[in-house]
Amino acid sequence: MTLSFEGVTEPLGPAGDDAVRPFAVEALDVRGRAIQMGPALDAMLARHDYPPAVARLLAEAIVLAVLLGSSLKFDGKFILQTDTDGPVDMLVVDYRTNGGVRAYARFDRDGVVAATAAGDAEPGALLGTGTLAMTVDQGANMNRYQGVVPLEGRSLEEVAHTYFRQSEQIPTRVRLAVAEMHTREAGRVRHHWRAGGMVVQFLPEAPERLKPRDLPGGNIPAGIDVGAFVEEDDAWIEALSLVGTVQDDELTDPAVPVERLLYRLFNQRGVRVFRTAPVRDQCSCSREKVANVLATFTAEEIAESVEGDTINVKCEFCGKTYRFDPADFGG
Ligand SMILES: [Zn+2]
Repeated sequence: MTLSFEGVTEPLGPAGDDAVRPFAVEALDVRGRAIQMGPALDAMLARHDYPPAVARLLAEAIVLAVLLGSSLKFDGKFILQTDTDGPVDMLVVDYRTNGGVRAYARFDRDGVVAATAAGDAEPGALLGTGTLAMTVDQGANMNRYQGVVPLEGRSLEEVAHTYFRQSEQIPTRVRLAVAEMHTREAGRVRHHWRAGGMVVQFLPEAPERLKPRDLPGGNIPAGIDVGAFVEEDDAWIEALSLVGTVQDDELTDPAVPVERLLYRLFNQRGVRVFRTAPVRDQCSCSREKVANVLATFTAEEIAESVEGDTINVKCEFCGKTYRFDPADFGG
């Protein structure tokens, strides 16, 4: 048996859209997760009037955040945020461990149009230089953990590899792909966004395989790039070469369920898949949270926020507008 299911209480069918499928290839000491995103992604992107290049970039960030956030083993939140100097100067994706995801891109429309016209709308060029921060938030009374990596005109895939090599010392390969689909519904052509991705990590049980071989004791001094050593491990080399064969359309094609792709890649070694974790388009904003923010405003800030005779606050993620009476905030 080369594709076995473990811990599965659902029917043994494909994960379908918008569900993370964890997997393990024990013969290669590899663990990972794969997903295809459809309606949930489309809803998050369609709500905003994003130029296509911005939608693609945000879709990549959403898939990356879902793949990484879904590894958390506790209730909490995983936040991926870029802060850069390019035409797309901020991407934010919040993944909550209940499967709710929200996302937002801030961009300069003229800058994106100019970059696209100049044929320079690759993700790295749109983002420019700055940082990518990944934050794990376990709630109000727990420590937040944040890792920050430089973003220097590189793709989110490449940045993720750097992050895991340097910050987590886990050899990691990430693949992300985005596609546009057109379907005909009731005589009308409808546009949909799809995306897919896979993260593969080398997690050998024998820890010395992750350590520099010429350093007795196995403690990795700061600044040593563990990835450079692990590149020599046969199992990881094999996993990398297999993942290297994944085509973008295999990651996004609804006719290629992630299980079929995993089977194609790893059936020689045997791959186990685990119960899926569904993902949905869900904002976490509320009237109460917005009111709590307004309550911290000074009288001057409240006065500046009044339009007509109300304060209108629009959630950047989901577009919902909350209206308040300035009198409730001393306005
Ligand atoms: Zn919202």
